[in-house]
Amino acid sequence: MRRKISIFGATGSIGQNTVDLVQRQGGAENYNIIALSGAANVALLAQQAIALQADIAITALPEKLPELQALLQNTGIESAAGADAIAESAAREIDWAMSAIVGAAGLNASLGIARQGATLALANKESIVCAGELLLRECSKNNATLLPVDSEHSAIFQALQGAKPETLERIILTASGGPFKDHSLAGMHSVTPAQAAAHPKWKMGKRISIDSATMFNKALEVIEAKHLFSCKPDQIEVIIHPQSIIHSMVGFSDGAMLAHLGSPDMRGPIGYALNFPNRNPLPLARLDFAKLARLDFAAPDITRFPALRLAYRVLETGGLSGAVFNAAKEAAMDAFLAGKTGFLDMAMLVEKALDDPYLNEQIAGDVFSLNAITDIDLAARQFVNALITNG
Ligand code: NDP
Ligand code: MG
Repeated sequence: MRRKISIFGATGSIGQNTVDLVQRQGGAENYNIIALSGAANVALLAQQAIALQADIAITALPEKLPELQALLQNTGIESAAGADAIAESAAREIDWAMSAIVGAAGLNASLGIARQGATLALANKESIVCAGELLLRECSKNNATLLPVDSEHSAIFQALQGAKPETLERIILTASGGPFKDHSLAGMHSVTPAQAAAHPKWKMGKRISIDSATMFNKALEVIEAKHLFSCKPDQIEVIIHPQSIIHSMVGFSDGAMLAHLGSPDMRGPIGYALNFPNRNPLPLARLDFAKLARLDFAAPDITRFPALRLAYRVLETGGLSGAVFNAAKEAAMDAFLAGKTGFLDMAMLVEKALDDPYLNEQIAGDVFSLNAITDIDLAARQFVNALITNG
């Protein structure tokens, strides 16, 4: 029987790689594609929906619906628009889905997949940072399988196969260090969005590339690791590894360490999640150790990359602080992209949000309440926007 699958964020970097692998594995002949979602790029969305013979294509942007409808005319493929339509389509019965919308906007799709007990391939790390307790509870209540797609967490997940949970001693997340790994603090003041979005090792969407430049991406991943692998803060370490060959490492109680190595290509972790528990052949460049010759490591500098320090603060605070952290970071990045704030100000704005007494009162709210999460997300964005407007 063909597996029923959906891809949320199909037009993005992760989404396109997912579509590529699905097509290489037989496309519509081997899979029954239910829903594909995108936002601005409806031309690509329509093309993907036609190629994969999807049941429905949904754009997040209602103003793009007429264009999508025109592109899908006479194809028999349904079209829809808006956040609610994406959430509704995530409730359509499937066996497997990729959650690869960018930002907290991806939370409802992740929850919809979890609530129907399907396999949730989770690229959208913001879902777990904002709503880790809720998402994991929905997965376990409904027997959904969560497979991490973030390369580091996929690496750890793979290294943990067959291990007893109590033998896990430490997790070491590797970080490329981003484009400003060796820049001085003074030099980082004047960084532009275009410079920040140019990642040296991984080809990714614009926002995650900028998150890598500030190391907010690694900060999100520290919080993601805590939820996925039930770790205490002192069990999670970050190491700079510029070659991005080791995707992360796990240390066990006997002192042994398992590292996951591979070329920096997201089709590795996406393919692992698509084929789990099998390992199908994947079109990845194979490693040549003689050519590589060396692998380097260095401790991260939290003075230049304060996002990492803030991640550990979130781990200690718990509650809804992950939602504040992520929303403040998203609002700060919107302002950076609009030229309203500087590169280094993004971490400062997030720290101010975490310090704010009003937001702190709400942080103690119910971690299992979607309303509490969306309320505090909105409040954190408004807080950051007000700070920027009022200088
Ligand atoms: P992209 O920016 O390339 O793609 C984002 C996708 O989400 C696109 O399909 C986009 O549509 C859609 N989208 C944008 N805004 C909205 C919205 N408000 N509502 C619904 N859909 C929206 O991002 P990436 O593929 O790089 O990243 C996706 C997720 O995966 C992120 O959470 C990221 O952190 C995570 N991730 C990505 C990695 C990577 O290598 N790229 C690695 C590890 C994790 P459109 O393009 O049509 O506008
Ligand atoms: Mg990652």
